[in-house]
Amino acid sequence: MIEDNIKDIYLDHAATTPLRQDVLDAMLPYFTEHFGNPSSAYRMGQESKAVLKEARDTIAKAINAEDWEIYFTSGGTESDTWALTGVSKSYRDKGNHIITSSIEHSAVLNTCKALEKEGFEITYLPVDSKGLIHVDDLKSAAKPSTILISIMFANNEIGTIQPIKEIGEFAKKNGIIFHTDAVQAFGQVNINVQEMNIDLLTLSGHKICGPKGIGALFIKKGIKIMPLIYGGSQERGRRGGTENVPGIVGLKKAVEMMMQDYEKNIEKLIEMREYLIHSIFNEIQGAVLNGHREKRLPSNVHLSFKGILNETLLIRLNAENIFVSAGSACTSGSTQNSHVLEAIGLDNDTAKSTIRVTLGCENTKEQMDVFVEKLVQTINELRRIRSSFGKE
Ligand code: PLP
Repeated sequence: MIEDNIKDIYLDHAATTPLRQDVLDAMLPYFTEHFGNPSSAYRMGQESKAVLKEARDTIAKAINAEDWEIYFTSGGTESDTWALTGVSKSYRDKGNHIITSSIEHSAVLNTCKALEKEGFEITYLPVDSKGLIHVDDLKSAAKPSTILISIMFANNEIGTIQPIKEIGEFAKKNGIIFHTDAVQAFGQVNINVQEMNIDLLTLSGHKICGPKGIGALFIKKGIKIMPLIYGGSQERGRRGGTENVPGIVGLKKAVEMMMQDYEKNIEKLIEMREYLIHSIFNEIQGAVLNGHREKRLPSNVHLSFKGILNETLLIRLNAENIFVSAGSACTSGSTQNSHVLEAIGLDNDTAKSTIRVTLGCENTKEQMDVFVEKLVQTINELRRIRSSFGKE
């Protein structure tokens, strides 16, 4: 909860965000008195059905879509998997080629791997050292058999924001369907599916101070998509299963609150991000900011510190109740290096010296000061230990 754990300094909002108290309050009655099944014809069911419509409305407005273009899912992973498999299988008669990038979330990359086994051909576009794809590379990769482009709006590790409008324009001109994973961008970047020619867009509740296990897929009118989950006639027959009504109510409330203070929140995040970057650069020699300097998420600070092993740094910060990460939550625990850091050209040693700091609106400048102080102390100490062993 946002109000709790004052002494904890949580700086891993790209992994997940604290649930807002107002979101929880909105959800609770839907676990208790408002428990009706939205498919039931009597009043209690119809009341639940009505809130689904309101939630669709709220999410649709946030991205300039229509309410009936919003489909509820269990989160970002399901939305990505559904978008890629559902579209590619529906358009197989037109072609079997899909274009994505080498720095997508594992939900997209592993779905692509599965599709490759089913005979689809996938092009993984490279990115430059800042994590940007180049639209010229996309243009060269496209061919008559290309049916789908899936490029994430913003990267979950280094925060780089892709040229989504240009990609959408190209896709539209060439009759190719365009999906974007906007899990990290939602709430931090303006999203307009019409202006940006986006055909499908993935959202997740727990990255915007909403509940876990709920998300949405925007599917533009007219796009064909096979179900991923078969079952009843829920979600207009495209996604079976009784709806997660409390989760959907929570998602609606989180989106409402996000949109209410949208500009103010972004301004606050950027101000805090810049304050943090400047403090770190002033205090720590050889600190490097990874990702793009301007085209980056307001919340993201991704750093490397030469000669420092990130695992050790994280353990020390954890002992001070400061929580940052070494990479994406989905790959933590894996011994493999990050595919994103590899794609931007970081060597193994540098990749092992990186940390991801991702800010949220409940963070304060005072917390930034405490974090920098502990970071400086720890890095100085680790560097002293290293030099006493004769390493520079
Ligand atoms: N896509 C991106 C870019 C993400 O960062 C994440 C979560 O980390 C997901 C998809 C998966 O979302 P979920 O946790 O809701 O399944």
